[in-house]
Amino acid sequence: MQCVTAFINKQALIDNIKVIKAKVPNSKIIAVVKANAYGHGLIAVADALKERVDAYAVSRISEAMELRRHGIEKQPIVLLEGFYNDEDLAYISKFNLFTAVHDEEQVEAIERVKLAKPIHAWLKIDVGMHRLGSHDKAEIFRLKERLEKSPNVIKPIGLISHLSVADTPSHVEYNKEQIEFFNDIAKEFDGDKCLANSAGICRWPESHTQWVRPGIIMYGISPFDDEDAKSLGLKPVMTLKSRILATHKIKKGDKVGYGAYYVADKDTTIGIVAIGYGDGYPRSAPNGTPVLVNGRIVPTAGHVCMDMLFVDLGENATDKVGDEVVLWGDGLPVEKIASLCNTIPYELTCHIMPRVNVEFS
Ligand SMILES: *Cc1c(COP(=O)(O)O)cnc(C)c1O
Repeated sequence: MQCVTAFINKQALIDNIKVIKAKVPNSKIIAVVKANAYGHGLIAVADALKERVDAYAVSRISEAMELRRHGIEKQPIVLLEGFYNDEDLAYISKFNLFTAVHDEEQVEAIERVKLAKPIHAWLKIDVGMHRLGSHDKAEIFRLKERLEKSPNVIKPIGLISHLSVADTPSHVEYNKEQIEFFNDIAKEFDGDKCLANSAGICRWPESHTQWVRPGIIMYGISPFDDEDAKSLGLKPVMTLKSRILATHKIKKGDKVGYGAYYVADKDTTIGIVAIGYGDGYPRSAPNGTPVLVNGRIVPTAGHVCMDMLFVDLGENATDKVGDEVVLWGDGLPVEKIASLCNTIPYELTCHIMPRVNVEFS
């Protein structure tokens, strides 16, 4: 028996894509499927989206090659971080990948190599995050010109960047500044343009260029603290489930788990759930983190272990060994668990471990 399963709801994924398309009627969709589709399963997710999105984006060449090996043959695949060495360029050419180009070393590599056929390159600029790309206009146009001169590059070249505070609506001015910077540079580019991530798609219509890059919202998760997925029209795609492995009656004052982190304030029943940080459930979950047992919310009790966690089922609990437990997903937003763990939902779904059974239906 599989005790921990991440159920991936294909219909919810498809419905979310429809919602996204309605938000950006004039843009083409690049489905961001890096990091194993945020823990949802790269190939199954990509396959379900095949007729519904215009392209995919990943961070590593290995992820792109996996897509190409598994039947994603026609759609462009964008490498968000670009490439690392000359050898990568041969693969980019051979497998028809679109690469971001974010610095002079990458431009030099493109100028230097011999390729069987030219590649699609999108110049990556920095609009304010200071992560990848140049923020210097003169340098941006210099790199553009060099790429345009290289016979290894298909013309016209594209332009790509990333917003750093699109999910923080209080940064109105800084957002506007970033979008304006991009749109200003974009005037000089005839090729593809791509700026908005999920938060840009939902909140910043000025950031909707001809291509957009939704990640987290495809998976039915809100990128915002002040607006939940439901009010964005999204449905959670992953529901993480396990089962009760044992139950114990304990007395008021009894101490539960490693470090006696939970002390019962009443006589109660403790349930042991077969999931832990070895499956990807966060160890940082404090006492009282909600889980769903037989349709009701109960609190975790004690530190999360590698393979198990404790819940306080209450004094008169009738829950039995084998009963299903929902850790997040349908009925219990992962956003809520993430916020209690001082992290973001992206990290929780990405951390689903290989031993977890992922069921796509
Ligand atoms: C991960 C990533 C995205 C997707 O971001 P979401 O917030 O999940 O929509 C888009 N663009 C870049 C460059 C990324 O790294």
